[in-house]
Amino acid sequence: MNRSEADVYKLTALVTGGERGIGSAITQALRKDGITCTVTGRSKVRPTHLDPDVDYKALDFLDPLSVEDFSRYVREDLKPDILINNAGFNSVAPIAEMSSSLLRDIMEVNLIGPYLLTQASLPAMIANEWGRIVNISSIWSVIGNSGNSAYCASKFGIDGFTASLASEVADKGVLVNAVAPGYTATEALKSKYSQRQIEEVSRQIPVGRLGEPEEVAEIVSWLVSPKNGYVSGQNICVDGGVTRTSHPLRRWT
Ligand code: NAP
Repeated sequence: MNRSEADVYKLTALVTGGERGIGSAITQALRKDGITCTVTGRSKVRPTHLDPDVDYKALDFLDPLSVEDFSRYVREDLKPDILINNAGFNSVAPIAEMSSSLLRDIMEVNLIGPYLLTQASLPAMIANEWGRIVNISSIWSVIGNSGNSAYCASKFGIDGFTASLASEVADKGVLVNAVAPGYTATEALKSKYSQRQIEEVSRQIPVGRLGEPEEVAEIVSWLVSPKNGYVSGQNICVDGGVTRTSHPLRRWT
């Protein structure tokens, strides 16, 4: 499929974890662009808040059977033009307190699951000579974070995966990028931190506030659109300036 064909072709997207948080904002943005979306969540029951034109499938990266069944469905039936590997979670602990089972869970959800779904999605993209993959990473894929080594390892891993895969499939019409959110005001984040903590974090962010899920979605929407023919292998931070300008050491300058 060339660029002009992609403009008129009805594109389909798979957004993991697309029924809430950043994934939900991405899904809304893609639907506005006329893209047909399938989203996943862990619940076997379709969430009632989803719009009727959004397809829902259950997927739990911590359940090997669920991953196997869903990967087969993606490879044989869904064949998305666009894959957004968004689902992920963080569990903070100093290395001495990180259990091997929690470490493996973080890797399964944040790194291995996205890798397997990418494997399942690529054959159809390559056959169509057009595909877009965006991995939602994190600012903790660019800078280290004390007490957060497991999550950082998984997110630095997804950045490495993005860069390597981008070079492997660029000549097949598939562009692969990552988008790295900073502190983003999802319901999950707002319920985790007190207002005082949010104000404290905001003071450390050059723009002076948390990001909005829609601001992450805007970048994803552009990256997967036919407008993008030349950006691949990048890990684009949507972080209010944190990773490029903010560092604890700046207090000493
Ligand atoms: P969220 O609101 O907590 O949503 C996470 C999504 O991931 C949910 O849909 C959840 O499914 C899904 N998920 C969690 N565990 C899963 C599993 N075992 N198998 C399959 N799906 C699973 O998170 P968010 O803040 O929107 O984060 C989205 C992405 O952005 C994540 O990759 C996260 O690491 C990254 N990120 C977020 C921030 C931030 O500040 N919010 C910052 C940097 C990076 P259920 O709905 O079933 O729970």
